[in-house]
Amino acid sequence: MTILPDLSDLIIEQVSITNDVMITVRAASPMVPCPCCGTLSRRVQSRYTRTLRDLPVSGRYTHLIVHVRRFFCQESTCIRKIFAERFPSLTLPRVKFTLRLQEMLRQMGFALGGEAGARLGRVLSIPGSSDTVLRLVKQTELPVASSPRVVGIDDWSWKRRLRYGTLICDLESRKPIDVLPDRSVESVSAWFEKYPSIEIVSRDRSSEYAAAIKKGAPQALQVADLWHIGKNLAESVSTLLARCRAEIRRGLHVQAEPSQEREEMEPVSEEERHPARSLSEEQARVARRAQKLDRYEQIIELHDQGLKAAEIASRTGISGRTVQRWLAHGSFPEARRRRRRPSLIDPYERSVLQWWHEGNRNGLQLYRELITRGYKGSSKAMYNYLATLRTPQPDSLQSIPLKLRRRKSVPLLPPPLENFSAQRATWLFVCQPEKLDQIQQEELMRILQASPSAETAYSLAQGFMQMIREHTGQPLDSWLNSVEESHLPELKSFARGIQHDKAAVLAGLTLSWSQGPLEGHVNRLKLIKRSMYGRAKLPLLRARVLHVAEKEPARATILAG
Ligand SMILES: [Zn+2]
Repeated sequence: MTILPDLSDLIIEQVSITNDVMITVRAASPMVPCPCCGTLSRRVQSRYTRTLRDLPVSGRYTHLIVHVRRFFCQESTCIRKIFAERFPSLTLPRVKFTLRLQEMLRQMGFALGGEAGARLGRVLSIPGSSDTVLRLVKQTELPVASSPRVVGIDDWSWKRRLRYGTLICDLESRKPIDVLPDRSVESVSAWFEKYPSIEIVSRDRSSEYAAAIKKGAPQALQVADLWHIGKNLAESVSTLLARCRAEIRRGLHVQAEPSQEREEMEPVSEEERHPARSLSEEQARVARRAQKLDRYEQIIELHDQGLKAAEIASRTGISGRTVQRWLAHGSFPEARRRRRRPSLIDPYERSVLQWWHEGNRNGLQLYRELITRGYKGSSKAMYNYLATLRTPQPDSLQSIPLKLRRRKSVPLLPPPLENFSAQRATWLFVCQPEKLDQIQQEELMRILQASPSAETAYSLAQGFMQMIREHTGQPLDSWLNSVEESHLPELKSFARGIQHDKAAVLAGLTLSWSQGPLEGHVNRLKLIKRSMYGRAKLPLLRARVLHVAEKEPARATILAG
């Protein structure tokens, strides 16, 4: 690209540089062909000027002032009597931008969208409104999938857990081929009907996709994606471990010295702050309740056997006071959420949270900002509030006043055996044993020794993971039989899912196609969707997703099982 556009067939008459750069040009050739019949003409009828915007020169807006001639057509039979000369290397008829400026705007539109593209353009002295940028993107012809042979299909959420769309990729070229507005059987099968060339479809475990592919591409072999199968297995193991938590913990207690009972009813300030729980927080809460219920039942059992509170306390290791309180309660004492007193900071909570998450954590600055917004409370109240936003990190605890430290529900130095979490243990269960370090191996051993259910689950989970790792489906049947004999409902339900989808699972275990390329494109789609501030409409989103610039090969993320 040169400083000036291709002016080889033009004569530069004048260049003036003020705030903007103005370049006056005219055509060099005395004869011009009629666009209709092609006959050369030299009879000029009239002249006018056309102004074109071009790429900036050294950060200045640049205008090309083109002297255009109108000609009489010399061919008497031609329907055009008069025509204006054209500049095909420079621009298109009736367009106010040069070709290379249009191309630049188009690329900015694909990369950033209309609004952000135009905004960047203004900074770089590239003219073009957001409407222009969007129009250029929409006018671009998208690559058409001719006859894909192997495709992958996955969903992505339009709106978290409410609406889903579908992304389809060619797994051989690793490029996206289409974006569908939903994941219904109707629209997905309709899409597949258009491509009889498809031989193999890699998909997740959803029965909707399975049905849609069967309907729209009955000729295709369905391959269940291994990563998704592994994920399903891990989820089942996690549920199982959460259920067996009481058993495992009891086992761990027996192994370890029965430690002094920790107070059960701890304040849960973090949970009050964030009522919408993450899955792991919810899991932790369920686990705490399960452990407590387990102890409660133990107390009641001993009580029914006629033991006194003090004896129960000494046998179970639960404090005498807790035993008395629970017995007096008459039923299982559910943990009560502590209600927070209303505070002057409440109306500003949203703003403070926002600043905090943006990284603006200077207390004094926040306090001044609050005052300007009408906050009437003390700075101390604000600091107290800020302290509840901190997650306790072992090394940052020192900086939090002791009084606040006590409010945390996480013990300061948890003994390793008490630190059992189903999520972490799940990873120990599905990970290749050789990849665990010494500490992890010991932790795993303790869990397995503590619970027979966990031990069975471990050998089954490893058996399945081995099939995944070794790319073999041969042991699948015997594996399914072992699960059937295991009395582990979580794994049985996983096995039922496999049984139901067996052909695809076997194909997944033995063929080497994976959703890897799709994963990368789904992430890219999400990024584009977010950059459109939730106002993404399908045609534009689709255009931006499918437009993979030639220079930028689709980056694929391959997730290891
Ligand atoms: Zn003509």
